[in-house]
Amino acid sequence: MPTWGVHTTAIHAGEEEGVADVAPPIHVSSSFRFSSAEEAAQAFEVEDRYIYTRWNNPTINQLEAKVAALEGGEAALAAASGMAAVSTAVLTAVQAGDHVVASTGLYGGTLHFLRETLPRYGVAVSFATATDVSAFESALRPDTRLIYLESPNNPALELNDIAAITALARERGILTMIDNTFATPINQKPLALGVDVVVHSATKYFCGHGDALGGVIVGARDFIERARKETLRHFGGNISPFNAWLIARGMQTLPLRVARHNENALRLAEWLAEDPRVAWVRYPWHPSHPQHDLARRQMPGGGGGVVVFEVKGGLQAGMHLLDRVRLCTQAASLGDTHTLISHPASTMLAHVPPEVRRAGGVSDGLIRLAVGLEDVEDIIADLDQALGKTP
Ligand code: PLP
Repeated sequence: MPTWGVHTTAIHAGEEEGVADVAPPIHVSSSFRFSSAEEAAQAFEVEDRYIYTRWNNPTINQLEAKVAALEGGEAALAAASGMAAVSTAVLTAVQAGDHVVASTGLYGGTLHFLRETLPRYGVAVSFATATDVSAFESALRPDTRLIYLESPNNPALELNDIAAITALARERGILTMIDNTFATPINQKPLALGVDVVVHSATKYFCGHGDALGGVIVGARDFIERARKETLRHFGGNISPFNAWLIARGMQTLPLRVARHNENALRLAEWLAEDPRVAWVRYPWHPSHPQHDLARRQMPGGGGGVVVFEVKGGLQAGMHLLDRVRLCTQAASLGDTHTLISHPASTMLAHVPPEVRRAGGVSDGLIRLAVGLEDVEDIIADLDQALGKTP
């Protein structure tokens, strides 16, 4: 493939050869025809022959090629959801008897998988404070096989120092994995910072329109092939061709959309930071973020589309705000055209013990604003009216 710019890559990477359609066709078939018994027998020997959609599918392969090109990875594997990608990637990397060091402040589903599920299968997991490189070093053990990161994390927007942590891991031959959902490859390129494997909830910015679940794993070809053949093929968490098509379609405008998410979110962070009704605001590219210098270095493309803040008056005032918004929509996702607003402590993280939530930087009153693509002045006007007379 030629060396293309990011917009050209987002539009053209993964295009199927020999197809006349400009818009890619959707291959919905669950299996692929053989013309003879001999061809069928041979197909099972050949790596890239289409046989059965749980193994390989041309529409799904297009999404994979697009994500690999944008992340700068050798290969990618799509899965049914972000959680299917996370669990497939982790289960490819570890086995019973291994130890994992994970960052604090992870997305609730990942946190549950690492804290509750993995130990039941004989994998030990320790947590290191997201923002403290030395905590990762102290948590390492002779049997540590994987360091798991998420930066910025959901929802606290704390950052892992990716280059410093991967350097620690490399010296010791430990695999590193990061969830790059919040930043996207437009803002942050973890593989170039030394990470081995990147995972995504493609449900979010990749899809971009809130109408398909998906996940993707990116990394070295041998890891991706093991994930495909040893894990996903047998656990069966495959994406449907239609969802892969929707997500690949959305990805053609990823760089355009992420630039606008970045712009709108930074403007909102600035507006919230100045508002006397707001107690505090956190956004990676806002100077008030405790890791602002790291954010500018590690996320050169922009601070992302999520802003978190707390209203003066705490939890009750925050709930009041949620009940009064009109343009912003109360919903659990992010990365959509629509601005979505949520209260993580009472929703996505309600099942997580409060001390674990707080260790992950999530105060009880924290509001997550997943800034959409609307006119930013309209989002500001909505929040302004919803904040009302809050002290
Ligand atoms: N990773 C992050 C950072 C997320 O925010 C989410 C979902 O919100 C996931 C993973 C899981 O993705 P999915 O809902 O597509 O399974």
